[in-house]
Amino acid sequence: MALRLHNTLTRTKEDFTPIDPENVRMYVCGPTVYDFAHIGNARPLIVFDVLFRLLRHLYGESHVTYVRNITDVDDKINARAAEEYPGRPLNEAIREVTRRTEAQFRADVAALGCLEPTHQPRATEFICDDGQPEDMIRLITRLIERKHAYVAEGHVLFDVPSMADYGRLSNRTLDEMLAGARVDVAPYKRDPMDFVLWKPSKPGEPAWPSPWGNGRPGWHIECSAMAGALLGPTFDIHGGGIDLVFPHHENEMAQSRCAHGTSTMANYWLHNGFLQVEGEKMSKSLGNFVTIRDVLKDWPGDVARLAMLGTHYRQPINWTLASLKEARTVLREWSDASEGATGGEVAPDVVEALSDDLNTPLAIARLHALRKAKDGEALVASMGMLGIGRLVETTADIGIDATRVAALIAARAAARKAKDFAEADRIRGELDAMGIALKDAKDPPTGELVTTWEVKR
Ligand code: AMP
Ligand code: ZN
Repeated sequence: MALRLHNTLTRTKEDFTPIDPENVRMYVCGPTVYDFAHIGNARPLIVFDVLFRLLRHLYGESHVTYVRNITDVDDKINARAAEEYPGRPLNEAIREVTRRTEAQFRADVAALGCLEPTHQPRATEFICDDGQPEDMIRLITRLIERKHAYVAEGHVLFDVPSMADYGRLSNRTLDEMLAGARVDVAPYKRDPMDFVLWKPSKPGEPAWPSPWGNGRPGWHIECSAMAGALLGPTFDIHGGGIDLVFPHHENEMAQSRCAHGTSTMANYWLHNGFLQVEGEKMSKSLGNFVTIRDVLKDWPGDVARLAMLGTHYRQPINWTLASLKEARTVLREWSDASEGATGGEVAPDVVEALSDDLNTPLAIARLHALRKAKDGEALVASMGMLGIGRLVETTADIGIDATRVAALIAARAAARKAKDFAEADRIRGELDAMGIALKDAKDPPTGELVTTWEVKR
């Protein structure tokens, strides 16, 4: 059965035809790294991981490119850094916050059973390098040249009326867009809808040199630049939560299309519905704010994942204790039924269910049928399609201690600095034994060694 996906752009379920079946390309907006990710943020991570797995199954593992970015430049990050590290230079404080939060995030998504995307670019690596313009600055320059953007008082703004079909993705009236965007009516804007591509930085704030003065990028341009750099001007699938349709995705699409002169940025736009906790909107003020970390303290990642996939991704989901308990019961049954199985073929009807716009509730029903039929081999393989493993009921299997990993990486960096390579190697070995693989790279802005890690599978 052909893959069909609901496309926000056309508001219909369509057959999926990739631009290049040898390289199916997907971009999903990633986290802004200033705080623990919450269980609502886990939804797009899990949903698009299932789509990534399905695409790999259908087109071949090496024929899918998945990009999920890390937003490490944002005013919320600046505010958090200043609050947490008063008296420290802001740039250093920001680095502390973003690096720590990124490590927490990576540990959380791994514990939820998500594969590493092909690329996880950081926004700050696409602004400029050694004063030389990188993708974001080049994209903004192109938009100005093409008369889709203008400079005003140190800002660069996207000229919304210059684009005839702006609003196509969100399908809103101008009044609705104005209300939804909550844009500042700044005096330097030609049109109230115009949005910021580049803004000046105050002394002490993070700043990069640009043709328009020292400043920093707006949020939307980051994704256009990273998607363009890693996937090309037009690619197959763009995903995120429903709240991102407007203004973020509308603006990403406007920037990319106008800069590259293309009729679309991505052919299929997919959006997951929102998550509520016990029937209420999750918010810190209501006291029902649940981080992924909170959930993983009490529940294996596979249970949380199964609970999430019990609702179709486009529907709103109600995150409840009852649904977690039920998922645990189900996963125990599946685990018992597949004891000793080494993994056979994925059941075709499970692939078929997922191919119908990621119908995970139907796929789960078919997994139940495999259990009833006592087909443990197909059951394990098909659970794997959903990224769910057999339950191992020990707490040690629940997650990775990211704090310990970070401490060991810091100790290794210190050992290397002191030229104690034997100790550095010993620490690498210790991490290896924990199932953690290290990757060393130079940080472009500073030339300093940066070590990232991933869980070996
Ligand atoms: P943010 O950090 O707010 O930009 O969100 C990161 C991702 O999580 C985006 O794709 C959001 O659409 C998604 N997201 C945020 N809150 C929720 C929620 N309550 N339910 C589902 N998805 C959410
Ligand atoms: Zn984005």
